[in-house]
Amino acid sequence: MKLLYSLVLLLSFNTVYAQKAIIRDPLIADLLTEVSAENLEKSVKKLVSFHTRHTLSDTLSKTTGIGAARTWIKAEFERYNKDNGGKLQVLYDSFVQPADGRRILKPVVLKNVMAILPGKDPTDKRMLLVCGHYDSRVTDVMNSKDFAPGANDDASGVAGVLELARVMSKKSFNTTLAFVAMVGEEQGLYGAKHLAKKAREEGWDVHLVLNNDMIGNTYGMQTDLKDNGSVRIFSEGVPAAETKEEASLRQSTGSENDGHARQAARYIKETGERYVDQLEVKLIYRRDRFLRGGDHTPFSEQGFTAVRITETNEDFNRQHQDIRTEQGFKFGDLPEHVDYAYLQKITRLNLAVLANVGLAPAPPTGPVLITSGLTNKSAFKWTAPVGKAPAGYYILLRETSSPLWEKKFYVTATSAEIPYSKDNYLFGIQAVDAGGHESLVVVPRPGK
Ligand SMILES: [Zn+2]
Repeated sequence: MKLLYSLVLLLSFNTVYAQKAIIRDPLIADLLTEVSAENLEKSVKKLVSFHTRHTLSDTLSKTTGIGAARTWIKAEFERYNKDNGGKLQVLYDSFVQPADGRRILKPVVLKNVMAILPGKDPTDKRMLLVCGHYDSRVTDVMNSKDFAPGANDDASGVAGVLELARVMSKKSFNTTLAFVAMVGEEQGLYGAKHLAKKAREEGWDVHLVLNNDMIGNTYGMQTDLKDNGSVRIFSEGVPAAETKEEASLRQSTGSENDGHARQAARYIKETGERYVDQLEVKLIYRRDRFLRGGDHTPFSEQGFTAVRITETNEDFNRQHQDIRTEQGFKFGDLPEHVDYAYLQKITRLNLAVLANVGLAPAPPTGPVLITSGLTNKSAFKWTAPVGKAPAGYYILLRETSSPLWEKKFYVTATSAEIPYSKDNYLFGIQAVDAGGHESLVVVPRPGK
């Protein structure tokens, strides 16, 4: 590595082609081993034990209903705090959800459950938010009484969030991490809508949202596929909150496949597959599945970078179903149908991404692709980010028709020129530290 740096210094500051090796950080690898399938299974079964976690279910009982469920989730976060030195700030994000004439018939107090792990660098305001939803439902979305186990949808996601909070709160990261169990998803994404709006109004720098909704099923109904080796990342291409000016820039630069969420999805694939063995991260180029929505979307609508992480195969006999037996077949989202080794793998994927971004410097600011002259090279400039100083930067390049980055150029200056025509490729820039932790990718804007 020393040789590489000297090479970099010897070359003129804006023409450097050396590439750093991809590093698997032992600290992240260690944290990954701590993610326990047994803990995940315990959490799913505990969440199922509340009989129903329907958003409008009982809040007074200590053992059943959404009140008991949220009390338990909060107590779990607090329990990790006792073991890990008390760094987590555990709270309810409470609000009154007004009636909507549809799935909420009268105003009701709803509570997201949150644990915040503050970043160790006070100048770095970025927050990484990971969530799942703890409410559940059966066939009738207004049925708040019957057994609604919601083991996969979405006790699996909440169990993942809890396990991430437990393992990650042993350490500190440059960024703040927020672990959130959302409420009201099945009634209309109300918990996420509330939190995303609050984050926007209060100026939180939400840098990335990972929404884990159904991450424990490996069986595909009808196709009869059984797959524990892949996962889907749903990401929107054109940002929901795109301005007119951004739309016209997108049209002129052909960057419709380079929105914030799409960049994040690419990053998740690269980082996840680096750290988690036997896992293929599939990039799905749409916001969500047909007839379905999720808690990442309210964050996208508020202009944040948000994606959905979800199993590759779905078993619709185990989603939103009354627990019943028909012709010998038992319908329902029960804990015996969750694959806990798979859930562990997807929780590890989250951890690898959160830790890698969380330890990385912030992305370079104001990157520009210099378009003031007709040339067959591409020149860039940018400003170093605030907070932790990067060791260097990667200029990323790919064919305009390619989904993934194909070449990387490592530079230590805040400008660079590469012998590839700006007319023929798409570009991104990311900051990287000496430990190989890369920031999210930013797309340079055309300029002088
Ligand atoms: Zn769900």
